[in-house]
Amino acid sequence: MLQQPAPKNLNELVFEVSRRRTFAIISHPDAGKTTLTEKLLLYAGAVDLAGAVRARKNQHHATSDWMELEQQRGISITTAALQFDYMGYRINLLDTPGHQDFSEDTYRTLMVTDSAVMVLDSAKGIEPQTKKLFQVCRLRHTPILTFINKLDRPGQDPLGLLDEIEQTLGIGAVPMNWPIGNGPTFKGVYDLINKQVLLFERTEHGQRRAPVQVHDIHDSALAGLLGEIEYRQLVEETELLDAAGASFSREMFLAGEVTPVFFGSAINNFGLESFLRALIDFAPAPGPRASDQGMIEPDHQDFSGQIFKIQANMDPMHRDRVAFLRVCSGRFEKDMLLHHSRLGRKVRMPRAYRFFAREREIVEEAYPGDVVGLANPGLFNIGDTLCSGKLIKFDSIPRFQPEHFCILHNQQIAKYKQFNKGLEQLEEEGAIQVLFLRDSLRKEPILAAVGELQFDVVVARLKAEYGVDTSVERLPFSCARWVECGPGEENGIIWPMSSKLAQDRDERLVVLFQSEWNLNYCQEKNPGIVFKELG
Ligand code: GDP
Repeated sequence: MLQQPAPKNLNELVFEVSRRRTFAIISHPDAGKTTLTEKLLLYAGAVDLAGAVRARKNQHHATSDWMELEQQRGISITTAALQFDYMGYRINLLDTPGHQDFSEDTYRTLMVTDSAVMVLDSAKGIEPQTKKLFQVCRLRHTPILTFINKLDRPGQDPLGLLDEIEQTLGIGAVPMNWPIGNGPTFKGVYDLINKQVLLFERTEHGQRRAPVQVHDIHDSALAGLLGEIEYRQLVEETELLDAAGASFSREMFLAGEVTPVFFGSAINNFGLESFLRALIDFAPAPGPRASDQGMIEPDHQDFSGQIFKIQANMDPMHRDRVAFLRVCSGRFEKDMLLHHSRLGRKVRMPRAYRFFAREREIVEEAYPGDVVGLANPGLFNIGDTLCSGKLIKFDSIPRFQPEHFCILHNQQIAKYKQFNKGLEQLEEEGAIQVLFLRDSLRKEPILAAVGELQFDVVVARLKAEYGVDTSVERLPFSCARWVECGPGEENGIIWPMSSKLAQDRDERLVVLFQSEWNLNYCQEKNPGIVFKELG
């Protein structure tokens, strides 16, 4: 039985909040996140043919070098938020770039999601990136549903996979369905909640919904359909699961202590409909969010929202910057006049967009859990709060410390204006930090990033979006600290020989260290000085 949203006539805001589900998918590259996304859209009726999203994406890919970089590496660099309706619910799927080098954007997205879907490859189990992202969700007690994918290929034993989830991630794993067959003999799943056998048929390239037959497990025809051995194995396994008595508790799921586990095959559309239903049934509606004025409830009448991501040149044809805002409370309306908490003044909302893959449409209104893209004329930073009514500031979105550094050379000096503008806009996205060496004749910028691949992206995007050729020269540093000291104190600081002094755009002193060891040494030698992480 699906949970029902609040009755519409109760209060429009309460109703709209209750029918929202905002989630993100976490997975290791290649586990099947893109395929699952497409298939959820297919089953929700948002696209007619699976593959449409990817096809549309590919058309755009051909339009810029940067997109080619995505293709070459087989990774998705941009983030879009998808919104679709299913059975009266409004679902927001926040996309999380898959490659480990793009983790910072992904981490930020996980800070504003209400639940997450963890996709595992049944042959590979828990992979490093899944584990990392899981840990971020864990910090916020984000409820997680698990989809074990690729059951149509020979994979690990299902019980072994459940055990791996429990042992590696330290979360209870409760199966919601059970695979029938494995690899080429995978025929369907036994739905442990509704006690039904679901047998699927493959369709051509899985472009359409897979026809499904529903049987009772004691149906005499089943042994014939599955084969005598497979049927006996299914009965034995389900009896074993019943005896083990692992029952699902929604409270424990909401507290992030257990994950319901579903087996299926995204590409073949096996097990997707029940997964989509469970997703809206189990996953929470938007909840309260922490601010300097306490928890802000989503159905509070005043509007509030937080910027969690900025992206330059979403559409290479329009050269714009988009700031993504998650609505946290109240109702967002076009042309609202809002407090900008960081700037301490009122701003009129710029035009707001909603995204479907790379398509955009203008948003007239939005509710908690929704993500809108604001055309950003340099007004917004990541973490900014916008609100009507009482002034509030949401807790800041944590930043991750840069571990890779390089000098960026501009190879077309005549294009220094485009170079500077491009760099400034890419920095605003929060994927790189721009620094300058102190006391050096070389005024070339230093880039600091969490992941190394980010440098290649900067070079490719400066070329594609700003028409400037650049190259990078790696530097041997592995951490940076912002130094706080009184006037004149700087001269008394003892720096390790291998460190370098730099400054950010606000001329704050930044020290680059070759190792954590050098940093610790420096802190010990200068006990009165504050060494701060990037905040
Ligand atoms: P992502 O990197 O996590 O977004 O993964 P993709 O959705 O792009 O899938 C990676 C590869 O796995 C692609 O070649 C998909 O066609 C394939 N794939 C996805 N789901 C399944 C599945 O259920 N079975 C099989 N055999 N392959 C799948």
